[in-house]
Amino acid sequence: MNNYIIETAALSFSYPSGQAALRDISLQVKAGAIYGFIGQNGAGKTTAIKVLLSLLDNFQGEVRIFGADIREKRREILSRTGSLVEEPALYHHLTGWENMLNRALLLRLPKSRAGQVIRQVGLYDARHKKAGAYSQGMRQRLGIGLALLGSPELLILDEPTNSLDPSGIREVRELLARLAAEGATVFLSSHVLSEVEKIVSDIGIIHQGRLLFQGPMAVLRERAREECFLDTHDNQRCLEILAQEGLKALPAGQRLNLGNIGREEAARLNALLAGQGIKVYALEWGRKNLEQLFFEITNSPEAT
Ligand code: ATP
Repeated sequence: MNNYIIETAALSFSYPSGQAALRDISLQVKAGAIYGFIGQNGAGKTTAIKVLLSLLDNFQGEVRIFGADIREKRREILSRTGSLVEEPALYHHLTGWENMLNRALLLRLPKSRAGQVIRQVGLYDARHKKAGAYSQGMRQRLGIGLALLGSPELLILDEPTNSLDPSGIREVRELLARLAAEGATVFLSSHVLSEVEKIVSDIGIIHQGRLLFQGPMAVLRERAREECFLDTHDNQRCLEILAQEGLKALPAGQRLNLGNIGREEAARLNALLAGQGIKVYALEWGRKNLEQLFFEITNSPEAT
């Protein structure tokens, strides 16, 4: 195995009920990456995260974190890892600062460390407010702050942007980008690619327990190949004219997606449509949106 912060080989896991939740997963997470682990509900994200955090141990295959076998170095690995699985466990009747201080004392860390972290997660000004009165984004940042107290080299976050409003998502996104810039490795799961695509450097797409794609975000973007979009005054009529030509176009919002056609073909269609009285407002190439690509990957024949 190579020098990855997280590396699994042929990782499989079945619940006692017989439900196979992970099938032959080989994850590779580089140091300093923000790795997005993306999959629909029930894909196996939480199960994989529980294995990485040693909360489930009767798995098959190999799991190495910081280069060490998780079965052999569990304590050492966990002492270098911070995590947030589902809702942060907060005392809602205590202030943000009291929550932070309480956890610091439990971990036998100095008060100054609690002060550092509450600043780091941008809650210093709101530190005397009760956690119950925080917005969801603030609560999530406080939860991430608690995970950060022990200065972990690796942060594992299960759905950190789940159920946040757009400003909460932005707050968490900015925080994670800062942490990665400071040298941490972040592994986070999400079921919405568009919520995390702006911050992740690498991505793994899991579907029905299988890893269908893994690689740099830039490579995934590359796969969202160019397609030609048509904007006219009468798309319905256009579809009919194109169908007579044996061409299939797909409605895409206000426009029609003509697929990956070339420039000459586009010019020919433009002349054809104009000749039939269609006003062509725009004929332009654009990249497929990532959510569509995600849908395609998880619905391809190999995915099932
Ligand atoms: P979500 O986003 O809904 O949390 P997920 O990607 O995290 O989904 P998992 O929670 O890991 O998915 O679930 C993977 C599969 O394992 C699902 O089919 C789920 O029903 C099943 N599963 C999860 N927990 C258990 C359990 N304790 N016992 C039996 N089956 C389980």
